[in-house]
Amino acid sequence: MVQSYEIAYLTVYNLNFAFPKPNYRMETSGIRVRFAPSPTGPLHLGGVRTALYNYLFARKLKGSFILRIEDTDQNRFVPGAEDYIIKSLQWCGLEFDEGVTQGGPFAPYRQSERSGIYKDYINILLEKNHAYLAFDTAADLEDARTKLSQGHDQFQYGIKTRMQMKNSLSMTADEVKSRIERGDRYVIRILIPENQMVVFHDLIRGEVNVHTDTLDDKVLFKSDGLPTYHLANVVDDYLMKISHVIRGEEWLPSAPMHLLLYRFFGWEDSMPQFAHLPLILKPDGNGKLSKRDGDRLGFPVFPMEWEDPATHEISHGYREDGYLPHAFINMLALLGWNPGTEQEIFSIKELTKAFSLDRINKSGAKFDPPKAKWFNHKYVQLTPDSELFSYLEPTLQAKGITVDPEYVFQVIALIKERVELLPDLWKNSALFFMAPESYDQQVKQKIWQEGTAALLQEFASAVNTLDIFNKDTLHNLVQEFTASKNVKMGQLMNPLRLLVVGSNQGPGMMDIAVLLGKKELLARISTGLNKI
Ligand code: GLU
Repeated sequence: MVQSYEIAYLTVYNLNFAFPKPNYRMETSGIRVRFAPSPTGPLHLGGVRTALYNYLFARKLKGSFILRIEDTDQNRFVPGAEDYIIKSLQWCGLEFDEGVTQGGPFAPYRQSERSGIYKDYINILLEKNHAYLAFDTAADLEDARTKLSQGHDQFQYGIKTRMQMKNSLSMTADEVKSRIERGDRYVIRILIPENQMVVFHDLIRGEVNVHTDTLDDKVLFKSDGLPTYHLANVVDDYLMKISHVIRGEEWLPSAPMHLLLYRFFGWEDSMPQFAHLPLILKPDGNGKLSKRDGDRLGFPVFPMEWEDPATHEISHGYREDGYLPHAFINMLALLGWNPGTEQEIFSIKELTKAFSLDRINKSGAKFDPPKAKWFNHKYVQLTPDSELFSYLEPTLQAKGITVDPEYVFQVIALIKERVELLPDLWKNSALFFMAPESYDQQVKQKIWQEGTAALLQEFASAVNTLDIFNKDTLHNLVQEFTASKNVKMGQLMNPLRLLVVGSNQGPGMMDIAVLLGKKELLARISTGLNKI
């Protein structure tokens, strides 16, 4: 085999080739898409969006949605990341048809369990002279970077430099042989053909033309016996019969090389179509959204909370911050895709129906943190009170509050409108379960006057006489009382609120009073007057 490496170098590639423009309107059958994350850390919301678009595309066209874990880079492997990715997607409701958890006809779906497979394919490339061995050490590469980059150009291991490096193209066959025999470590690089245009049609970006002289001879196979992302990704997409590769724009520069691999293997006929999704940008539009932007501006960039196993640093998650999964998904769906109408709220079914790749924008989508909250607020309003109850219940239990669920439902109905994130449920309802422990002194300074205490005392006595205590009777009483005392409504209601709630916050005072009931209202007035 070693003999053929010299031939590899001598092979003259002079054919320009273009990949056929794909026919996007495909039959619904045969649609197979995959989400292929590398478990190198928590899933960024851009990753969730990629998974979502794959999911919607598969569901819409009655295809299959596959989860493949690309974990061949041992150096970047992060314990817990795979589990985190799976749980996050479960939380989002993005169910897979095949993948690491449920298996499937192309199992295994974890690349580290497929390592035997890739060896066969790298051998095919070597035999066909589309790849070569490279023995350069880290120091050699560093050296080359300084020498060959000539100060300004970035060093590229490729057409211009490969013959000055230590590889099976630049060495004699005997030299290569003896190096292998003495156990020198080597990687296998792709041999990028010279002076060609790779042309392909991206379903989002249209025609993409890349000159092969700009590509480097990327490593396909590492000295640890495992393939790199590029080889494993292409081989698996082929073997798993993937029809469409829908992935982030950061992979666009790799696509021409992936296309060359399809060609080298002779798989052009079954090559998937490509769709590279636009980036999710920082809120100001300046660059890709990163975790640091989230930390700086106070919003999560991960679906769930993540504890870094090395540093134990905790990163916020949408789930823990109190977002509903559907709100999160709806928000993500519109980050880079538009339905062509004004509609913003979509159930997952509606999204599936409306989704199409040709409505994905070419340019990056600015992330809009207030809009994320807006979506959640909308979804909270659409959520049945019984479900909101289930979000509030753990807090009530933790605080040892036992109340009639019927009462909790009434509270939820009253405060729901003020709930943006789920923790707001408790923030807005606490006053219905606990009397105030303190009274806002600033508010007191503003509203408390000489006769206020006496006025409230008298008001309490008047309330006490009510046999029927409801919104109507209370309303009438307040009208009569303020008229007879010749005070404005605010002179009574503001201090009343301070005594009952402890601040100037909360829903309408009458609503609060009626829901608390006569007994609790009077108790709070009396305690308040003593304490304030
Ligand atoms: N493993 C790659 C990633 O982590 C997948 C890229 C692709 O979908 O081809 O994003």
